[in-house]
Amino acid sequence: MSLFISSLNSGSNGNCYYIGNDNEAILIDAGISCRETERRMKRSGLSMQKLRAIFITHEHTDHINGLRVLSKKYQLPVYITAATQQFCNISLEKKLIKRFKADQPVNIGDLRILAFKKEHDAGDPHSFVVSSSTVKVGIITDIGIACKQVIHHFKQCHAAFLESNYDEDMLMNGNYPYHLKRRISDGKGHLSNIQALNLFLEHRPSFMSHLILSHLSQNNNKPELVDKLFQQYAGGTRIVVASRHKETDLFMIDAGFSAVRMVRQTINKKPKQLSLFGN
Ligand SMILES: [Zn+2]
Ligand SMILES: [Zn+2]
Repeated sequence: MSLFISSLNSGSNGNCYYIGNDNEAILIDAGISCRETERRMKRSGLSMQKLRAIFITHEHTDHINGLRVLSKKYQLPVYITAATQQFCNISLEKKLIKRFKADQPVNIGDLRILAFKKEHDAGDPHSFVVSSSTVKVGIITDIGIACKQVIHHFKQCHAAFLESNYDEDMLMNGNYPYHLKRRISDGKGHLSNIQALNLFLEHRPSFMSHLILSHLSQNNNKPELVDKLFQQYAGGTRIVVASRHKETDLFMIDAGFSAVRMVRQTINKKPKQLSLFGN
């Protein structure tokens, strides 16, 4: 069965990703207001009535801003780990709180949601792979590095929301204080454009039809830059850059896709390390 996916918003101002089939759907994170979530889903022709649950990756506010209201209004179960909930500090209706564990899939109708642990400066951060019987979609943002787990799951995805947070030169030369530059790039913050590109080039499967570059930094990245960088290596995979301000199109993901032309290559540009003396 096909999956339908859209980023309703992506970035440090709010993250919310829609994944559904013909009968049911879930949201990964609820980082924009309930009203905006409704508005954007309506514009995409998506029904709130199809939503069955919200899964939370971690407690940072850009992932939970709209959670309380959205879950209460539509009585949506919230799948969240106990540790993340503790760090969230928001009140949720007790009967709506559900737990998940890494590597133990949760079934919601015909959707299967698998969480896996990731490297990020949060209490108990997870990424997800959502699948139907034949199709897999990864939601992989807020990762410090492309760790073994990320690679293992990315390799199996027909489509992926993948973080491409910052351009290394823009971060290094920008006016963020040194400790913040360090925090973003130290392996527990965010993935750079080059790190994302290398993951794509080294590990994408031939059946990956869509790559949706996500969680772009407002100050240290540009959508045109990311688009240009990835388009040249797309090799048949559709490249989309998710916006910080509006929803993407709704994409239908099938299992039958095979990239016309695979480009396997590694960019010879290793991620830059910040010097201890700053720069
Ligand atoms: Zn985030
Ligand atoms: Zn985060």
